[in-house]
Amino acid sequence: MVRFGYHVSIAGGISKSFDYASEIGCTSMQIFLSSPRTWALERSSPEEKRRFLDKTTTCDIKPIFVHMPYLPNMASPKEEVYEKSIKIMSDIIEECATLSIPYVVAHLGSELGTGKENGIKRVVSAINKIKKKNNGVSILLENQAGQKNSVGSYLDDLKEIFDNVNTDEKGFCIDTCHLFAAGYDITKKEVIEEIRDKIGFDNIKVIHLNDAIYELGSKRDRHECIGKGSIGVEGFKKFFSFKGVNKMNFILETPREDKTEELEELSLVKKLIS
Ligand code: ZN
Ligand code: MN
Ligand code: MN
Repeated sequence: MVRFGYHVSIAGGISKSFDYASEIGCTSMQIFLSSPRTWALERSSPEEKRRFLDKTTTCDIKPIFVHMPYLPNMASPKEEVYEKSIKIMSDIIEECATLSIPYVVAHLGSELGTGKENGIKRVVSAINKIKKKNNGVSILLENQAGQKNSVGSYLDDLKEIFDNVNTDEKGFCIDTCHLFAAGYDITKKEVIEEIRDKIGFDNIKVIHLNDAIYELGSKRDRHECIGKGSIGVEGFKKFFSFKGVNKMNFILETPREDKTEELEELSLVKKLIS
């Protein structure tokens, strides 16, 4: 079964995410664990965790993905930022284990001009510090959009990081907007085959399904609603037609404005996948 859903809000407590996701018909979802704009993870109360755990068994919404906050940078050459990044990522992973959440999506950060190989090394050693033991929570490496100094925008770089981290609890989160912005035309069969051959479809635990505001290769991370951007309805139709693609999990992080737009977008996605 293909599962899909939105990144949904945790306003009012993490367990509330289930209510809204169910209401709009999501079968999977992504959340932040606390405000994405702070350095400290704000943990949920034991009661709230209980409510969340209850809903993981009563709601058919799975898998659940947690997205890391915006501030950490595992590729940073600045010691303080690097250490703080390792700390919050470790806390998030630990918290996910207590909530039976199997996946944390990680941005690989910016090497701030120190060079790609340095950035990759830094990310690998950060992940090795974060994932010292198995606890049922996998870290998913998300591809970036090709912005200046970004780490992990290209398949070879993602593969290099993946191969060098000492944990089995790892995988990829592949974002369609970021692929397109980095120059991968996802409407082309050879591009999809390159993804399959380089990183393996089995290792892709989620697709971030986003259209792109700007053109192919723009190197700009600006999401658009499905069908309304440069990839477009025809582009996504083509994308889903490739073998293996329509069997993945999909999470949308699109700039929709309200529930009506969400319902419309979800029904379009359903139609395109089937
Ligand atoms: Zn992301
Ligand atoms: Mn994404
Ligand atoms: Mn993005």
